[in-house]
Amino acid sequence: MSRTTPPVTAEPPERSRAAGPSAAPAVKVPYPGIGSVFGSRECEAVRETVLFGRTLSAGERRAEFESRFAEHLGRRHAFSVTSGTVALEFALHLLDLRPGDEVIATPQTYLATVQPLLGKDVTVRFADVLPESLNIDPRRVEELVNDRTRAIVLVHYGGHPADMAALRRIAERHGLLIVEDCAHALGTTDAGRPAGARGDLACFSFHSSKNISTLGEGGMVAFDRDAWAERLSRIRANEPDADHVPAPHAFGDSAGPAAGALYPGLAYTHDCVTLRHPGTNATLSEPAAAVGTVQLERLPELVGRRRSIAARLTEVLDGVEGIRVPRVPDGAEHSYHLFTFFVEPGGPVSRQELLDQLAADGVQTYLRYFPLHLLPEWRLRGHRYGECPTAERLWFEQHMNLPCHPSLSDGQVDCLAASLERALHGRPAMRGSPVLRGSPAPSSTPALHGTGAG
Ligand SMILES: *Cc1c(COP(=O)(O)O)cnc(C)c1O
Repeated sequence: MSRTTPPVTAEPPERSRAAGPSAAPAVKVPYPGIGSVFGSRECEAVRETVLFGRTLSAGERRAEFESRFAEHLGRRHAFSVTSGTVALEFALHLLDLRPGDEVIATPQTYLATVQPLLGKDVTVRFADVLPESLNIDPRRVEELVNDRTRAIVLVHYGGHPADMAALRRIAERHGLLIVEDCAHALGTTDAGRPAGARGDLACFSFHSSKNISTLGEGGMVAFDRDAWAERLSRIRANEPDADHVPAPHAFGDSAGPAAGALYPGLAYTHDCVTLRHPGTNATLSEPAAAVGTVQLERLPELVGRRRSIAARLTEVLDGVEGIRVPRVPDGAEHSYHLFTFFVEPGGPVSRQELLDQLAADGVQTYLRYFPLHLLPEWRLRGHRYGECPTAERLWFEQHMNLPCHPSLSDGQVDCLAASLERALHGRPAMRGSPVLRGSPAPSSTPALHGTGAG
C-alpha cells in the first residue's frame, strides 16, 4: 500500500488563503519551519560523526550532549530522547499516577504537553492562565488542588517564564510534583536560573521549529532524582520499567547465562512483580546529538537574535492604543520562541484587520495555541467552554503571534515593522531602523530559513 505525502511548501495554512482571492501575496517574512540556524560547525559535527564516530546510536556524542545539557541547567540528570512529546510522555510516566489521581495543567500550550494524560485513567483540571503572560495562574492552581491532586503540568508559554516561585510554594505545601514543559524556553532565565532548573521534571524539544534543533527531531528530560534516572535509562532503551525479585531459575540444563549470551543477568535470576512501562526505543542518534552540542553552545547567539528582533517589534507596538505587549518580569530573560501580543477589542485596529494587513504585505503569522480543553478529545472528557475564561477570551479575541526567529534578516525585520506600522498608523515605518546586534543572518541574506551563516 502506498501513501502519498503532501508536498512541503512555503505556503502558510488557512491564513494567507483567507487573505486574498486567487493570488496570495509573495511571502516576504516567513514564519519558518526551521526555528534555528545551522552552519559549518553543525555540518562538520555530522560529517565527523558519520565518518569517524564509533557508532551512530547511543555513543559518546549522546553522552556529551546530555552532560553539557545537564550542566547548562544545573541538574543531576539529562536524558535525551527522540522528541519533546516522548520527553513529556516519559516525565508523566515517572509521576506514577494511579487511577483517580488528578493533575492540574495549563490549557494554553501545544497539545503534546498533556496528550499523554489522555491515555491514563486520571482527571485533568485545566487552570486558567494569567492575562499578562498566558502562563498558568498560580492562584487558580491553588483553588483546584484537592486531596487527589498529584502534579502540576505547566509550560513557559512562548519562552515567557512561568511563576516558578509561586508554583513551587504550592507544590511544597500540598506535596505535588511539577512537570515543566520547556519546549519554548531553552534560553529563558528567571532570577538567574534557567527554565527547567526548578521543576521536578523538565522537558525540552529540539523539533525543527524550536530554539535549537537536533536535525529536526529530538527532546530531553532533565531532573535530579537518581531513581528516575535508572528507570528512564531503561524505558528509552527497550527495557521494562519494573520491579524484580530474586528467584532461582533453571532453563533446561542452564541455570545461568552462557558466556557471551544476549540477555544475561536478571533473565536467569529474577522474576518481575510489577511492570510499570514496557519500554520503547527513544534513542537520539549520534549525528543528532553532535549537532545538539554545537547548537547548545550557540544558544546565547541564537536567543540573542530572537531578543533583538523582539525588542524592535516591542518598540513598534509599545504604547499604541489598543495594543498590549506582555511585560517581561523583572530579573527574567525571555527566549522569544514566540513573539506574542494582544489586540484589545475597541481599539483603533481589530485583530482581523491587523492579520489582513500582515498577510497582504507577505508576512506569515500563525496563532498558537487553541485552548486545549476545547479540543474534541478533552470535551469528550467533560471539559467545556467557560472553564478557562481568560485563555478563551484572549485566544478568540486578542491573541497575535509574529515571526521572530534567528533566520530573519534585518531587511525582513524592517519589512515586518513597516507592515505593523501601516496596519496601526496607516503609514509605513521610517527608513533607517535601528541596527540589530548579534545577527547571525546578514541583512543581504534572502529568506532561506535556517541557512544563515553559522
Ligand atoms: C514542540 C512542543 C512540544 C512537542 O515537542 P516535539 O519535539 O515536537 O514532540 C511539546 N510542548 C510544546 C509546548 C511544544 O511547543
